[in-house]
Amino acid sequence: MGLVQYKQKRNFSRTLEPAGRVHPRHSPELMFVVQKHDASRLHYDFRLEMEGVLKSWAVPKGFPTQRGDRRLAIEVEDHPIEYGDFEGIIPPGNYGAGTVMVWDTGSYQVSGGEPVKALHQGKLHLFLEGKKLKGEWTLVRTRGDNPDKPQWLLMKT
Ligand code: MN
Repeated sequence: MGLVQYKQKRNFSRTLEPAGRVHPRHSPELMFVVQKHDASRLHYDFRLEMEGVLKSWAVPKGFPTQRGDRRLAIEVEDHPIEYGDFEGIIPPGNYGAGTVMVWDTGSYQVSGGEPVKALHQGKLHLFLEGKKLKGEWTLVRTRGDNPDKPQWLLMKT
């Protein structure tokens, strides 16, 4: 998907969010980040490094922590890698206006070792190694009515 949608939604002279670019990091580990985003509706943005960008989901009710818990996760536009440590206030009138803070970050692995393939297949069995989040979660794509915003379920497994 790249960053076309990300850039279309934002005016970088009016927000401190990074413009960024697509660039694979040369790190043996893949990054994940969960950002608490107090926008018009509070939600948590879950991002997984893949293909030089951060694949992103908005999780309105936050991360499930009890085994068997499941939460709606709405796939949103890819974000640049630089977004992974962004914290700040997106000014009123801008896309996503509100406060962004990093809630947790760390590394992740996908069962099978092929995150892009798992993404396209619509099922990621994730191992997260963060400061707060440690363990296994599963992301599964569900039907979803809007092809621009596919719906997934994020489950503690
Ligand atoms: Mn958000």
